[in-house]
Parts: sequence; C-alpha cells; structure tokens
Amino acid sequence: MNLICWTLVALLGPLTLACYAQAPARKEKSDVKKQEFGKLPDGTAIELYTLSNGKGMQAGIMTYGGVVVSLTAPDRSGKYADVVLGMADFPGYLTPPPYFGARIGRYGNRIGHAQFSLEGHVFHLPANDGPNTLHGGIKGFDKHVWKATPGSGPDASLELTYTSKDGEEGFPGNLSAKVVYTLSAANELKIDYTATTDKNTVVNLTNHSYFNLAGQGEGDILGHEVMIAADRFTPVDSVLIPTGELRAVKGTPFDFTKATAIGARIEQNDEQLRFGKGYDHNWVLNSKGGLAKAAEVHDPKTGRVMEVWTTEPGLQFYTGNFLDGTLKGKGGKVYARRNAFCMETQHFPDSPNKPSFPTTELKPGATYHTTTSYRFRAK
Ligand code: BGC
Repeated sequence: MNLICWTLVALLGPLTLACYAQAPARKEKSDVKKQEFGKLPDGTAIELYTLSNGKGMQAGIMTYGGVVVSLTAPDRSGKYADVVLGMADFPGYLTPPPYFGARIGRYGNRIGHAQFSLEGHVFHLPANDGPNTLHGGIKGFDKHVWKATPGSGPDASLELTYTSKDGEEGFPGNLSAKVVYTLSAANELKIDYTATTDKNTVVNLTNHSYFNLAGQGEGDILGHEVMIAADRFTPVDSVLIPTGELRAVKGTPFDFTKATAIGARIEQNDEQLRFGKGYDHNWVLNSKGGLAKAAEVHDPKTGRVMEVWTTEPGLQFYTGNFLDGTLKGKGGKVYARRNAFCMETQHFPDSPNKPSFPTTELKPGATYHTTTSYRFRAK
C-alpha cells in the first residue's frame, strides 16, 4: 500500500481500505543475485549477476564481456519471455558467438583499413573483418573479465569496470571504462557508460544484444514493426565502411520514420541492402543531444514493445543477416538468419577516419559519458 493510501486510511477511516486492492502490485523487492557461471581455461571464475526489478522483469549479466545473457519482458497477457539471444552455457561464449549481448569496445563497429591517425600519428589495429577492424579488434572488451559491484540504490543495478591498457588492440592510452546497468520498476534496462584516458584516444562503446520480441529462438523478426527517429543514414561501401555521405532515407527502404515491418522492403533490389545482406547500417538520429527516443519496435504477435532511448548520435540497426543456423543457443534453440535484430546505439562507424562525423576522440581530463535505455511494455 502506498503512502497516499495510508494517509487516506488515517484521515477517512477503514472504508478507504479499498485503496489496498488498487495499490500497484509490487510482488517482491528489486534485488541482485550472484552465482558462478563458469570458469575460463586459466581457472578465472566468471560470475552471473541476476537483476530483478521486483515486478517480474530480470536481466542476467556476466562478468565475462559484460554480456547481457538474458533479459525478460512481458507480452500483452503479462507473460514474460527471454527476448535476447544467448548461449546455453558459459563455454558457449568462448567459441565465440557473434557478440551476443556483449559490451563492445574500445570502438563499436568498423574502423576502415584497420587504422586511423591522431595528431599525425598513425595507429595500426588488427584487421578482423576483411581489411577492417570490427568491434574493437580480435580481443575487444567483450572478451575480457570485468570487475563487478552491485549497486545499493532502490533499483537493481550493477557496475562493471575494466581498464584497457595503453596499446591494447593498437589503441593509444590506458582507458578506464565503467558500465552501470540499472533495471527499473518501469521495465527499463538503462546502460550508462563512462570512460577516461591518460592519452588522446578514440572510444565508442555499445551494447550488442540480439533481440527477438517474440522470445529468443522464436523464429524470424521480419514481422516486427520498426520506427527509427532518423531522416538520414550513412551509406556504406561493399565492406560496410561509410562513404562519408549522410543520405536522406526518404523514398528508400531505409525510411523507418513511420513504423514499418522489417521484412516489408528487406529483399528490395537496392545496392545498400545488397552490401549489408539486409539492414546493417548506421542511422543518423534526429535528436540534437540529451536522452531522446531513437527507435521503437513492436512485435504484433505478442504485443511486446521495446523503445530505445539514447544520448548517442547514431544507431546501427542490424537484422541478424549473418546468423546461419549453426549456433545452438539457450534451451537448444537454433538461431537462423534474421532470427534477431540489434539496435547498437553509437557514434558513427569509421568516425576516426571521417572528420565530418561527430568526433569519437577522448582526451585526458575529459570524461566520456553516454546513456542508452531499453524500455519494455506491451500493447
Ligand atoms: C555489424 C555486423 C556484424 C555484427 C556482428 C554488427 O554491429 O554491423 O556487420 O556482422 O555486428 O558482428
């Protein structure tokens, strides 16, 4: 019973006890539980933290790669399902899968020709995606063990920290990264990223959850309806490096300004769709700063809705084009092509080589800080 109800009972008597029946049902308190999830080959223990919001929603986050291994959300009848892809057990993550739920760093998405220059100095990175560097290189932030500290506020939260050494994967500067996950009673998973450096560097952190709002492993996402608050996107070349152009989405299969099914135009004869083998592009968000709604996705079958809010200028919308049915995930589910979509909030790919894009440089003394939140409801 809430404070208003108690006050009414005190002032007006027991009749107002009817209030009790209408008080918001908070089944249990929010909490964070820790369990061992597995061990690295060198014996390092990997922990899984389960955040519960007290209303039924849960997020499982492990210390290896800061991976969101599970995330539940209610459908229109109040039934919860796990809406993110993941591996059946910890060893499955060592294979590794294509960044399922991972903390991506130091640089999310691609850096062209695996190099960039900063103040006249050229930095060479490992090429792990054809000629380019993808998601921070061969051993990105998704393949390191993070230090975890559960939060003490009213909402379930978890802080993860990782320090990337100067020169790691070719990037300059010791970079101290902190990621805080908060699961609120309003069915929102908020992710706050901060980072500081001791040398000029570049940074672009993101979350690589593969969502399926019908439930993980429940077929393709082509019927999901997507809205992206962006009038432009960054077209790419054949190896998915932005050309530098900011192209209007109007009149193209990239126009999601009005909610449209993912599958409605994905097979159109369009050069950009051919390059991405579907959607695998960065949208230039209309927001002019601050936390703003970037996207909304609706699964008409279950009624689940996910809103994506972010302070970032870009959104990589990827439709699982490279999933090929060879991976078996949670509950023995097989993940075939387009069985999930990603919404990676970020700065634009290849920004270190594109001076016209919003900068991803971080200097000593400055703090990188971005926020992204995934908000769930059903209709
Ligand atoms: C990239 C895709 C890539 C996927 C998994 C996305 O961010 O844009 O091209 O296949 O991540 O690695």
